Amino acid sequence: MSLKNNSCLHILGAGPAGLASAYYAKKCEIPAMLYESSNTVGGNCKTIVDGDYRYDTGAHRFHDKLDHATKEVQELIGDDLLKVNSPSMIFSNNRMFDFPLGLLSILRNLGGVDIAKILTENIFNISRISSKPTNFKDLAYQVYGKTLSELFLINYTEKLWGRPAHTLDVNISGNRLKNLNMATLFRELLFSNDNSDHLDGSFYYPKYGFGTIFEKMENYIGESNIRFNSPVTKLVHDKKNIVELVYGNTRITDIDKVITTLPVNLLINCMEPSPPEKIKDIVNNIKYRDLNLCVIYLDIPSFTENASIYFPEPTFPFTRIYEPKNRSNKMAPEDKTCIVVETPYDHEALPDGMPKKELFQIISNILIENKFINREQIIGHKDIDAKYAYPILETGIKERLEPIFSYLGNFENMYTIGRSAQFKYIHTHDIFMQARSIINKLK
Ligand SMILES: Cc1cc2nc3c(=O)[nH]c(=O)nc-3n(C[C@H](O)[C@H](O)[C@H](O)COP(=O)(O)OP(=O)(O)OC[C@H]3O[C@@H](n4cnc5c(N)ncnc54)[C@H](O)[C@@H]3O)c2cc1C
Repeated sequence: MSLKNNSCLHILGAGPAGLASAYYAKKCEIPAMLYESSNTVGGNCKTIVDGDYRYDTGAHRFHDKLDHATKEVQELIGDDLLKVNSPSMIFSNNRMFDFPLGLLSILRNLGGVDIAKILTENIFNISRISSKPTNFKDLAYQVYGKTLSELFLINYTEKLWGRPAHTLDVNISGNRLKNLNMATLFRELLFSNDNSDHLDGSFYYPKYGFGTIFEKMENYIGESNIRFNSPVTKLVHDKKNIVELVYGNTRITDIDKVITTLPVNLLINCMEPSPPEKIKDIVNNIKYRDLNLCVIYLDIPSFTENASIYFPEPTFPFTRIYEPKNRSNKMAPEDKTCIVVETPYDHEALPDGMPKKELFQIISNILIENKFINREQIIGHKDIDAKYAYPILETGIKERLEPIFSYLGNFENMYTIGRSAQFKYIHTHDIFMQARSIINKLK
């Protein structure tokens, strides 16, 4: 499996997956070259600097789930890695609910009828022998019962993924509903169990933004090992191995090993000779969600105290707002703040992104109407598109994609990792582990 003498590992894409691969390669003294279509590293995990403001391309935090990955980030960021305690909330029916849902907050904010329904449904759920849910709607009903699910989860999910919840795979929960049900909520209420697995308010965050993790990786790898503005357009193969790689007008022959992190649909369409029509048909029918990030600069020191606020109701076109300053005070000047409003949309439906000016007007009007801000406080705004933000995991997706990954598995010298490359709802800690494991095989 290891590389031939004097050969180099070719890594496609310099997002978290490509960077982590190159980072571990360098640690193991494996020469590697990264090819990146844009002019910066980080993919969907960048921190943008705009004057005195900094914000991430999405409400990122580092989840302390895998010891090795956490240690790696601690090593990279050092003393600038903060442990942040900032709870998130759900805004629904003009009220704020704890996120993840807490029993006290439900009891405090909902009416008697709803509470009675919720308790009845969940007592029934606790005593029921659970069957394995086959779609997200079933999973939500099993964990929270119908009423709570419909109030907060189903509507939010349908807005985020743009599909009815019963057509979505259970994995879109990203394991967040694992070990969660009304019984855990009761336990938490009675015993104030701060260590509950699902609590989301405590996380690691680099002082100068999430993207600095990947900037540190870039520094370690060295700029001379990254080719920017180099979109990979062709991978020539002999059915068993990738033999040539084309980016821009440059052709590289004598390829030893390749790690690809490109969205799987782009990768398949880069293969030459072309894969069988059946494979192309499948891949051309998978869908991604993109994300519009509307950044609004405010002439106030603070918007809220929360890491993020979720908006499940369909009257709000956006799904979530986060305030970078609540992750680290280095993200905005002392007397000002900014918020980032996330609005998802189908990649295929709006290839050029959302109509930006219109969206800002809609978002700002809604925030003003709902008394989150007033117009005089707005001192500027910006729009950013995060492409390939979410692979849309419809039910049966694993089986549908099986022929694609089985086709890609035929290539002995190519490895696939990353969120849109594997078409999996994974996070950076998962990606670190995948990268480390592949590089260990190549040592
Ligand atoms: C809104 C949002 C919030 C998130 N929150 C968190 C969080 O809190 N914690 C967490 O751990 N994760 C979070 N994630 C997930 C995280 O962003 C992804 O897991 C991560 O970005 C995936 O990395 P990747 O390298 O697989 O893909 P990407 O980040 O998409 O990077 C792919 C790279 O490949 C490049 N590329 C594409 N085509 C070509 C080509 N033809 N040639 C060369 N290069 C190419 C792209 O320019 C890009 O740089 C979040 C994601 C989103 C969208």
